[in-house]
Amino acid sequence: MAELAKRVKDLPPYLFARIDDKIAGAKAKGVDVISLGIGDPDLPTPKNIIDKMAEEIYNPAHHQYPSYAGMLSYRQAVAEWYRRGRGVTLDPQTEVLTLIGSKEGIAHISLCYINPGDVARVPAPGYPVYETGCMLAGGEAYKMPLRAENGFLPIFEDIPSAVAKKAKLLFLNYPNNPTSAVADEAFYRKAIAFASENDIIICHDGAYSEIGFDGYRPLSFLEVPGAKEAGIEFNSLSKGYNMTGWRIAWAAGRSDVIRALGTVKSNIDSGAFQAVQAAGIEALLGPQDIIPRMCAVYQERRDIIIDTLNEMGWHMEKNKAAVYVWVPVPKGFTSESFAEFVLDKAGVVVTPGNGYGAAGEGFVRMTLTINTERLREALRRMKESLGAVAF
Ligand SMILES: *Cc1c(COP(=O)(O)O)cnc(C)c1O
Repeated sequence: MAELAKRVKDLPPYLFARIDDKIAGAKAKGVDVISLGIGDPDLPTPKNIIDKMAEEIYNPAHHQYPSYAGMLSYRQAVAEWYRRGRGVTLDPQTEVLTLIGSKEGIAHISLCYINPGDVARVPAPGYPVYETGCMLAGGEAYKMPLRAENGFLPIFEDIPSAVAKKAKLLFLNYPNNPTSAVADEAFYRKAIAFASENDIIICHDGAYSEIGFDGYRPLSFLEVPGAKEAGIEFNSLSKGYNMTGWRIAWAAGRSDVIRALGTVKSNIDSGAFQAVQAAGIEALLGPQDIIPRMCAVYQERRDIIIDTLNEMGWHMEKNKAAVYVWVPVPKGFTSESFAEFVLDKAGVVVTPGNGYGAAGEGFVRMTLTINTERLREALRRMKESLGAVAF
């Protein structure tokens, strides 16, 4: 049998495998398992977007290969969305690229810049694709710890200058998965200064840019002065418009980086289905009332989780954005033992924080993407089985 390539053998093990086995075991025993583990929006894609897709799918022009960079009309819609919502000017021809989901672009950007032995800086804990994309390119991911005492923001001054100089890419993600932390303009200005001093390209992942609570609106990286010279932003219709299954996203910003990503992609995929891009235009430029309605639903769920946990002895502040709550585990537990306890005693699945890298130890992630009644039931069961907790 052919031996697997080193780059595949080196991929980190799937840390959720043990918990998946436990979930399967509980289900087999007849437990009514409630999962707060999966960050996939439960709310439907808005009807105007589905209607647009239904109409566009009959257009025979869409049944052929799309253009590699994406339909110009879609890229123009992305640029117009940034102009209307963020006051950002983008050239749709050179500064916007259609992606088949932002995960795809995040995985491929390392192929553009990372030679074997090169370094990408990635947040830890973090969305796993920053690291694995770099590894698949033969590079090394250097982890930037996100610590609670720093608001889950990396401290650039802590990065040894030899390492800083070696790094070619710097991945950032705010609102953050899994910590739900947000970044302000001062932070992004520091990141841009650091990147420019060390000749690093910033790759900002803005997947949760539309999901803010209590009137808070997350910043787009591209709103910050100098961002377009410092790097690119990945964003997607997945979370903001409940379209995870549609696989439609974009990268926008610095033109040489956009061009490089387009070059790599044109050798790997052949573009996104044009009917989906047409539906994407409807999402970006059609009625935007879905966003405040969706945020209100997530906000209520966030309140259910945090209010109940605080009644039990936690001291959590309410997160301002994203679809997660990042919960410290009580005294005497590790991430994994707490997740196991909650599954065994309450039939509730939470994600152990160490699944996002060792830096996530001491936390579990709970998602807001579950039916509100089921969420209430999950919290009721957790309260019943855990009682009061200590820290
Ligand atoms: C969900 C998510 C994405 C992915 O998005 P797609 O556009 O659906 O590929 C990217 N980054 C983060 C941090 C996410 O949580």
